[in-house]
Amino acid sequence: MTDCIFCKIISGEIPSTNVYRDDQVTAFRDINPAAPTHILIVPNKHIDSVNMMIADDEPLIGHLFFVTKELAAKEGISEGGYRLIANTGAGAGQTVFHIHLHLLGGGPMKHPMG
Ligand code: AMP
Ligand code: ZN
Repeated sequence: MTDCIFCKIISGEIPSTNVYRDDQVTAFRDINPAAPTHILIVPNKHIDSVNMMIADDEPLIGHLFFVTKELAAKEGISEGGYRLIANTGAGAGQTVFHIHLHLLGGGPMKHPMG
């Protein structure tokens, strides 16, 4: 997707604070952090949102969650607790239409969400 900001981050066209990269997923720090740790984990393949997932994407998204768990450990927030968010659709606050998981942690969080 030529006009997708996360595709441009994945290709290196736009700079980011990269924290992880493999052949399937990329992770970088959110430019406007909402918590001490705020990382975005995205598939290298462009998928608009969870709504646009196809059955073939299941292993990819499973891998994305596994990488997220590893990053939480690396950031030292596994024990303290963290929150994973995948805003889906404009009504839920999705602003970048390339699937991403927010990894938020490093401080106490209010509940409920939303
Ligand atoms: P969402 O609102 O769930 O679509 O989340 C999009 C997130 O992308 C927001 O938290 C933004 O702060 C973040 N974001 C937008 N542009 C960039 C960028 N160039 N680098 C890092 N994070 C970004
Ligand atoms: Zn994209």
